[in-house]
Amino acid sequence: MVLGEKEVKRGRGNVSIPLVCASRERRAFAFLSPKETFAEVPIITHIIFESQMTLIQLHPIPNKLLFDIAYATPQNFTGKPVYAQPHCYLHKEAHEKFLIALDLANAQGYALKIFDAFRPQEAQEKLWDFCPDPTYICPPEKGSPHSRGVAVDLTLVDQKTGQDLDMGTPFDDFTLLSHHKNTEITPEAQRNRCTLMGIMTLAGWDFFTSEWWHYQLFHAREKYNLLYDKDLETSMMS
Ligand SMILES: [Zn+2]
Repeated sequence: MVLGEKEVKRGRGNVSIPLVCASRERRAFAFLSPKETFAEVPIITHIIFESQMTLIQLHPIPNKLLFDIAYATPQNFTGKPVYAQPHCYLHKEAHEKFLIALDLANAQGYALKIFDAFRPQEAQEKLWDFCPDPTYICPPEKGSPHSRGVAVDLTLVDQKTGQDLDMGTPFDDFTLLSHHKNTEITPEAQRNRCTLMGIMTLAGWDFFTSEWWHYQLFHAREKYNLLYDKDLETSMMS
């Protein structure tokens, strides 16, 4: 449902943006750069309001925003799907900062590829049961920034070749090679990690020392509530 338009001031001028939302009571803003067309805007289909909790669903944009939701496939460290559905949600504040990162990446010739975003607390419990190592998996009682909708796992893709950039290790490689400042990976992989970090940092994200693919909002645990699959309009776990 398109509810109207709003003038938004962006760095390159004002643009009119459509307000797209799931119901009359639920309003959201899709931030659009002047170069983009309406067809390229991530359409917001589900917005959940529960006190402070708001999650916005993202959708792929060809050659700009790609999904490879690893926990919805057997290609993750557990060897089996954790999610029943490969959905991608972010808290509204993370969503705003993610769109800034997407603009920066696209302007440099990169697509962003998301491996994981919002992770229902039920899924975090499954991951912890499989790998109870706090270096890589956040204990459920502490609560992951992913389960608050304010973390994203991602990489860069060359828009010309469609190939993932070499980051030195695959996603979810729980070894020292995945740590930032590791110099045993190739210089090119180190530069690629720095490019991703530069984009995400400029967009307002914090990094995680032991995982090159993970970014989260600052003060995640202090500011954002844990969320469950039942908080979603479209379940990820069933
Ligand atoms: Zn992560």
